Amino acid sequence: MIVVKNLGKTFADGTEALRGISVTIPDGDFVAVIGLSGAGKSTFLRCLNRLVDPTKGNIEVRGTDVASLRGRALQRYRRTVGFIFQQFNLVTRLSVVENVLSGRLGYHGTWRGLLGLFTERDYELARQNIRKVGLTEKERSRVDSLSGGQQQRVAIARAMTQEPQLILADEPMASLDPRLADVILGILKDYNEQQGVTVLVNIHVIELAKRYARRVLAFNLGRLVFDGPVEMLDQDLEKRIYAGSLEAL
Ligand code: ADP
Repeated sequence: MIVVKNLGKTFADGTEALRGISVTIPDGDFVAVIGLSGAGKSTFLRCLNRLVDPTKGNIEVRGTDVASLRGRALQRYRRTVGFIFQQFNLVTRLSVVENVLSGRLGYHGTWRGLLGLFTERDYELARQNIRKVGLTEKERSRVDSLSGGQQQRVAIARAMTQEPQLILADEPMASLDPRLADVILGILKDYNEQQGVTVLVNIHVIELAKRYARRVLAFNLGRLVFDGPVEMLDQDLEKRIYAGSLEAL
């Protein structure tokens, strides 16, 4: 379970990206985070794995007080959270399997990882996940020879190989052809259903959120303006979610 209480983030330049966010997300949920550009979606996700340090409030993930983690404890926590970026964040001169294996690095000392001393189980997991995202044929290919959609699938396989308790995906389709959105969200949805891993995905296309998510969190200018099952989203509510946000465009 994720319990967020009164979470706030004010950046050094004074931008209030998050204001008093409180939300509880049960294990195994598939949550779409929606809202206009600048609403705070990305900052919210980044606070959950501490890529961004909150300035206020509490975050508890399965009993871990995330906001106060430091050093090794923070590293240990981070390996349990798979983060999928808009821009994939892969090492493009390395192969698919090498990138996916790097999902295991958090489990080994740095020197082992640097020497590529992965266990047989690491390789097995990596191959399994490469299969899940449909890239077995490309296992040995360099990432820079792949299409954007394929690269994002590598990033997802890497996140799965972390054996995460939580996957955070920050607009994973944003830099891809729109018709690939279903492929990416489909893979995340299958993983969520098969493994029971909680998935939070930032989506600014509301139709996609409706098709894939069980639950929606809507942000508007740093505030949580809707939290509920996807069935409750109607046009009125959608208007309210997007109301007054023009200044954030
Ligand atoms: P979204 O993901 O919904 O597009 P973000 O979380 O990226 O929104 O941004 C929320 C607000 O915080 C925006 O006004 C954005 O410009 C601001 N912001 C994001 N990152 C930083 C930063 N590092 N420094 C200052 N302001 C930032």
